Amino acid sequence: MRAAVFDKVGSPLSIEAVAEPACGPNELILAVRQCGICGTDLHASQGGLMEPPPGTIFGHEFSGEVVDIGSDLKADWQIGDAAVSLPMIGCGTCNYCLSGNPFFCLSVQKTGVGQGVQGAYAEFVRVGARETVRIPRGVDWEFGALVEPLAVALHGLNMSRFAPGDDVLIVGAGPVGIALIQWLRLSGARNIVVTELSKQRAQMAERFGASLLLDGSLHPKEIARRVLAETGGAPACIFECVGAPGVIDSCFAMAPPHSEIVSLGVCDRKDHFRPFLGTMKEITLKFAVAYLRSDFEHTLHMLETGALNPAPMITQRVKFDQLSAAFESLKTSKQDCKVLLCPGC
Ligand SMILES: [Zn+2]
Ligand SMILES: [Zn+2]
Repeated sequence: MRAAVFDKVGSPLSIEAVAEPACGPNELILAVRQCGICGTDLHASQGGLMEPPPGTIFGHEFSGEVVDIGSDLKADWQIGDAAVSLPMIGCGTCNYCLSGNPFFCLSVQKTGVGQGVQGAYAEFVRVGARETVRIPRGVDWEFGALVEPLAVALHGLNMSRFAPGDDVLIVGAGPVGIALIQWLRLSGARNIVVTELSKQRAQMAERFGASLLLDGSLHPKEIARRVLAETGGAPACIFECVGAPGVIDSCFAMAPPHSEIVSLGVCDRKDHFRPFLGTMKEITLKFAVAYLRSDFEHTLHMLETGALNPAPMITQRVKFDQLSAAFESLKTSKQDCKVLLCPGC
């Protein structure tokens, strides 16, 4: 099959012929229909704690069609079923797996990050049946590939203390920040203030219903002042969706007393913040990662009903022969939101 293969830091992904994945007894093979390019893939390919070994195939935001069914699953699945999958295969027997939260399974194999299972920048991908959810009728392959980033934001929201009617602040309008705006609108947020450096991303945030956009380069104290002056309220929750050193410290500086900071950004570099800023305002700092199976199910349901319409998030569609160039340009450009690969196009 064709796949985009990571070799080493500094080399573009190369499109190669690689062996097709083999289906285990409790697994499925999906023909990948759409796969999103994620900021963590871009980041991992540039070295650091997330750097994968040579030969890795990225891709953890995918939808696909069932083309092979494990021997223990013949009664439950049919060839041609449309599906999305959490990008991981758990042991299936521990408490985390049994409660639909395989991310924390001690023997989980993660997909598309260089350990465990090869990802979906490929024609085929291997998934665990337990982690796989059928796509309802009326939800297309592209929306299927957006389920993963939407579920990241949903999980972050579920981890927070947000309640309907609250004001919130989102720091960073990348795909996760944009997904969060959609969930917050659905969940009855009052003012959704977004700080962002890129003009294109700020416009996207506005399109999805941000109440107020502020230039992310403003001093955190000025951001806090503007939020109060222009919304008349103070955010109960601040969602950090950037994942870069210094951002948590800025969040502390802009947070009102007794608010909560939920960090969804993935930062693998050393960071520092001044605890004093949190102490003096009794701030709660929390981290959130990934999602549960139920987050995927709920996201698919909201896509099926039309309550979520993330179509404008898709800013570019590429085929295999355009993937490497798109991947390279995304490392520096902040113009795009979601770029989708169609391996069969
Ligand atoms: Zn992702
Ligand atoms: Zn497990």
